[in-house]
Amino acid sequence: MAVAVGQKQADGGNAVKIVPGPVLLLGAPGVGKGTQAKAIMAAWGVPQISTGDILRANVSGGTELGQAAKAIIDRGELVPDALVNEMVADRLTQPDTASGYILDGFPRTLGQAEWLDRHLEASSNRLPVVAVSIKVSYTQLLRRITGRRNCPVCKSIYNIYLQPPKVDEICDLDGTPLARRSDDTEAVFEERMRTYDSLTAPVVEHYRAQGRFEEVDGEQPVDAVTAAVMAAVLRLRGTAV
Ligand code: AMP
Repeated sequence: MAVAVGQKQADGGNAVKIVPGPVLLLGAPGVGKGTQAKAIMAAWGVPQISTGDILRANVSGGTELGQAAKAIIDRGELVPDALVNEMVADRLTQPDTASGYILDGFPRTLGQAEWLDRHLEASSNRLPVVAVSIKVSYTQLLRRITGRRNCPVCKSIYNIYLQPPKVDEICDLDGTPLARRSDDTEAVFEERMRTYDSLTAPVVEHYRAQGRFEEVDGEQPVDAVTAAVMAAVLRLRGTAV
């Protein structure tokens, strides 16, 4: 049975099940969308859907989609809407999305946002989306992007400047050598920021205009950002349900 946000479960237990519905995490490359999505996923038990992760999985799996996307990703440009929308539509058919999900890195264009609105309107039993944007200064973003490393095995995320592993370039948890995304260079970052300003910033205005939008300060400690994002979702959901 679906349980509204903040209501107690019908089984009479004391546990409060949060049903956040679709949550969009917006923000420039490097603001921490992935880190925050993982934290919320752990807290609320809803999946993170990262279009970047799905695309990278296709690239490493050598699929047709991956082959088409690789060069685009490496230039810091956007994969065509039709391809990404189809990926998302497919992922949203999975049953684990029933009580909500965190979309990380989607929508990134007005076309994707409008497609998502239409797609959700056409689905039954779906709450409307709420959008939270994380804001971080340009200088900080550059450090976060060029210092970012990940563990290819357990997917932990590090930053050689801000959150280094105990041993240089080695995962603390499983000893695997850390990897760097091919698009996390300074030159590609600059192109990704240009793409963000011209194509993705209007998405923020789209959700702001719908009154389902809040912005949080992404330069606080990670836990404080998580708490701020979750509080924003609950506030928005309280008025948007
Ligand atoms: P991310 O991991 O979210 O930083 O995404 C990495 C790259 O994947 C982006 O720079 C784009 O090339 C591509 N990508 C991810 N999400 C999208 C999207 N919603 N629309 C188009 N391209 C995307």
